[in-house]
Amino acid sequence: MQKELLQINNFIDGQLVGPSAGKYLDNIEPATGKPYSLVPDSDGQDVEKAVTAAEKAFPTWSRTTATERSRYLLRIADLIERDLEKLARAESIDTGKPISLARALDIPRAASNFRFFATAILHTESEAHITDNVAFNYTLRQPRGIAGLISPWNLPLYLLSWKIAPAIAVGNTAIAKPSELTPMTAYLLSEICREADLPNGVLNIVHGTGPNVGAPITAHPKINTISFTGGTVTGRKVAEACAPLFKKVSLELGGKNPNVIFGDADLDAAINGSVRSSFANQGQVCLCGSRIFVERPAYERFVDRFLEKTSQLKQGDPLDESTEQGAIVSKTQLDKVKFYVDLAQKEGGKVVLGGASPDKVNDRCAGGYFLSPTVITGLPVSCRTNREEIFGPVVTITPFDNEEEVIRYANDCDYGLASSVWTQNLSRAHRVAEQIHTGTVWVNCWLLRDLRVPFGGMKQSGVGREGGEEALRFFTEAKNVCIAK
Ligand code: NDP
Repeated sequence: MQKELLQINNFIDGQLVGPSAGKYLDNIEPATGKPYSLVPDSDGQDVEKAVTAAEKAFPTWSRTTATERSRYLLRIADLIERDLEKLARAESIDTGKPISLARALDIPRAASNFRFFATAILHTESEAHITDNVAFNYTLRQPRGIAGLISPWNLPLYLLSWKIAPAIAVGNTAIAKPSELTPMTAYLLSEICREADLPNGVLNIVHGTGPNVGAPITAHPKINTISFTGGTVTGRKVAEACAPLFKKVSLELGGKNPNVIFGDADLDAAINGSVRSSFANQGQVCLCGSRIFVERPAYERFVDRFLEKTSQLKQGDPLDESTEQGAIVSKTQLDKVKFYVDLAQKEGGKVVLGGASPDKVNDRCAGGYFLSPTVITGLPVSCRTNREEIFGPVVTITPFDNEEEVIRYANDCDYGLASSVWTQNLSRAHRVAEQIHTGTVWVNCWLLRDLRVPFGGMKQSGVGREGGEEALRFFTEAKNVCIAK
């Protein structure tokens, strides 16, 4: 007999409630390919209930002092840290990522997000502008109302809390929609919010699909602020829904990030960094460097050592402590990644490592969605494989001859999220950083994050910036008060 599946619920007005229509979807564990929980298949009625709760909570929450709001957020951060093991395990089961990664990155970062914005709101300043002898102006930054927060499946709690924390810290109320593929840690967060006594309606979490829950959020006239992270195609739909209603929108979208290795780089550091930036979370991080460019004199040495190091990555059951490469999030995503591996070969590329699913990693994971880390060489810079986001453990390596050429290669793409540059030459690092069209340029590092810096993409990688002051400004309305002398 099949084991009864754990049923998770929406979090509306401080209560854990089932979806109005009573429908649930299977939540599949990517490592096994089997359903292990049920997620609400909510719809517009549930969004409506969340709006009612958020609207009711707003007048009080928006006038709560920053010190009090800060205390709630700090309590949530503490509880996330207390539950680190439970949350890391849940994230690993839900996404297929190695438990060691969830424990070291996803969950600590979720706690940091709450702690960061809990303390940031205690240290804000307001501008004043003195108009000669005529007037005195000051700027009030006020919460905007109800924020709609939509996030993807690759870093579920990490990305959702990156939106929830600033939105509610500055006094908005919020309706969050996690990806229906990875709802579990958002559900556990709703239990944490209850334990932290977060006032009812301040945060509401509605589970379900993009069309049934995401779209009603973006279309709802009372939700005037939308913060979205996801793919570029969905981002376009979100922008189209929000534009006629003049909503304030932040879009963090896809990436196809260049990783540039100059001949003078510290090769050990560049190789270690590049293996991480290529395959962390099975390549399912929007910031992964999926296009590697290596200066020709170092090309062969780099490729040999990169392949050697990549082939040592331990692929296995995500719940195994020693696993470094887990499962791909879904069958659909696995098929998409495999499609690109085929396409790369049709475009003239050579698969020099991986390219297929591994032999069974263990009995438990026999039906799971695995693909070995894959390295492709010999492709032209402008082919589809090198221009379209794959979002999986696939990386291409291409040689280049000089700085000017590699800047052209790096920018020959519709995306502009992040890049890495490896060189010991400081002047070159500055020159290249200035000319690469990406929202973040990492020099001699990758994924080194300071939560105060502006974070976001150029071109089709998005509109707007998250992080630090940018987020506080995004979630508030600037009002000028002008007092005549
Ligand atoms: P999607 O764009 O498919 O989904 C993102 C979220 O939007 C999900 O919650 C999804 O729900 C929801 N959604 C889908 N359709 C609509 C709609 N019409 N209106 C409103 N919401 C909708 O992205 P993925 O979940 O596949 O995530 C992978 C993508 O996210 C990659 O492109 C990656 O680059 C990008 N990403 C960008 C980051 C950044 O900071 N720039 C960071 C991390 C990822 P559902 O799951 O039900 O479809």
